[in-house]
Amino acid sequence: MSDTPNSFNAVQQIHELLRAKQSEIETFIRSLVETESPSGDEAGSRAVVDLLAEAARWIGCVSEIKRVDVPDFGQHLVIQAFAQQRSEGQILVVGHTDTVHARGSVAARPWREESGKIYGPGIFDMKANCGLILAVLRAMSELQIVPRCAITVALTCDEEVGSFTGWPLLEDVAKSVDTRCAFVMEPPAPVGRVKTGRKGTGIFAMKVEGKAAHAGLDPEKGASAILELARQTERLHAINGSGSGITVNVGVVRGGTRSNVVAAEAEAEIDVRFSTEAESREIERMLGNVTPIDERTKVFVSGGINRPPLERTPAVIALFEKARAIAAQVDFELGEAQVGGASDGNFIAALGIAVLDGLGISGDGAHAVHEHIDADDIARRGALIGGLLISN
Ligand SMILES: [Zn+2]
Repeated sequence: MSDTPNSFNAVQQIHELLRAKQSEIETFIRSLVETESPSGDEAGSRAVVDLLAEAARWIGCVSEIKRVDVPDFGQHLVIQAFAQQRSEGQILVVGHTDTVHARGSVAARPWREESGKIYGPGIFDMKANCGLILAVLRAMSELQIVPRCAITVALTCDEEVGSFTGWPLLEDVAKSVDTRCAFVMEPPAPVGRVKTGRKGTGIFAMKVEGKAAHAGLDPEKGASAILELARQTERLHAINGSGSGITVNVGVVRGGTRSNVVAAEAEAEIDVRFSTEAESREIERMLGNVTPIDERTKVFVSGGINRPPLERTPAVIALFEKARAIAAQVDFELGEAQVGGASDGNFIAALGIAVLDGLGISGDGAHAVHEHIDADDIARRGALIGGLLISN
């Protein structure tokens, strides 16, 4: 074995091996897809973790397979590979085994290959990628390619519902040893572009107290909470299109009691997105100091930031440049995108770790009925991931 693999040759070798094993990899991905595991389905989660753990057991470079019980959800899975390199730190590879597709989805929309696309519930987000990362580790073992540092693969079971237990686990794993960088196996942006920026998110609620009055007899004695909320909504939505990375959406409103009563109460649920830490502070300042437009009303805001942004820092750009060079070695052009949706990559970036996200197999239809991957992207995406694991 060599500690300094020739990166170019290694990427080619991984690519060739994965291509030769295409149908074997597809069969494994199929078993993962057909083992349904919607978030919160304990038996489904355990069954899919069974398949992954059993496959990992036969990979030479894997030294530890840890299953973490999550009551009412199932299990997280942490796979340690190349542990002998831990003194050099680790690369963290992150994914999730839960999907948004209810049981019965596979019966309704079974595995289907058509014109180079493979369809199946949860295949793109992200069962295929759970299968692919194991295929890459197996290929590295068989080819005796040893990376510079250890590799830890963490697959959580509650990502699609907010990572409430997955996030603390990822934080522990990331902090257990020096983490050089992290790769998130989420689906890529259209045409297979990796994600070099993700907006942060905030969830707020606004409650307005007005003054009730009879709408016919003495409307002037009332102060409409609904009118106040409508004006505040206009004020908030005016931020959109201001040119900053901040977007605001008042997505749910409730208020009033009857059409002939000036509304005494109204409330709204607000989604906020932002690109930078500075914008996150601006939002907190803005929503922390909302003043009523009609001074007879009172406005209360609760909630806060719940995921920090994944910023396109120089370290992220450097990872992307490396990825683009590796992709070119297997003849494909890798693009990048900054997106509005958050992932576990956001939390990891907040720890000061460089993150490259959206490294999954290309395709389309996440969370939708036409969810699919591109079959011819499997081997080259695997080669890209392998290249990233040995060159960081
Ligand atoms: Zn996902």
